[in-house]
Amino acid sequence: MAIERTLSIIKPDATRRNLTGKIVAKFEEAGLRVVASKRIHLTAAQAGAFYAEHSERGFYGELCDFMASEPVVVQVLEGEGAIAKNREVMGATDPAQAADGTVRKDFALSKGENSVHGSDSAESAAREIAFYFSGLELVG
Ligand code: ADP
Repeated sequence: MAIERTLSIIKPDATRRNLTGKIVAKFEEAGLRVVASKRIHLTAAQAGAFYAEHSERGFYGELCDFMASEPVVVQVLEGEGAIAKNREVMGATDPAQAADGTVRKDFALSKGENSVHGSDSAESAAREIAFYFSGLELVG
């Protein structure tokens, strides 16, 4: 399988509860390498631009406010099949449906406050990485 890069966000519910290290440990144990990382505080407008594909969904306003409520940690994860592997480590959107040992099973509070974001396709990963990082910040 090819080496890929994917965009991860540790969301405000997790940074608030000091869970960044525990979540990164799960990525690393799964063979994903953190090749770029920064802690930022999004504005609601920036969160809205990032989640533009969800703008017609009922939870969009709530999602933007949540993502701007506290700092987030945005990271690029690299590894074999990194996009699908990260989705496996994350678990299902709704923590009640997430498999044992996943980030969302262990840490998420609800379907909205679900601790992590991960790109869902190669196209999304390319767009999402470019949204947060310049080429100079990706050091491999
Ligand atoms: P995923 O993050 O698992 O790819 P989606 O792309 O469907 O899930 O949704 C993006 C994000 O929007 C979710 O991670 C979650 O934070 C939020 N969200 C999704 N569905 C709901 C919902 N029914 N109520 C509140 N927030 C939601």
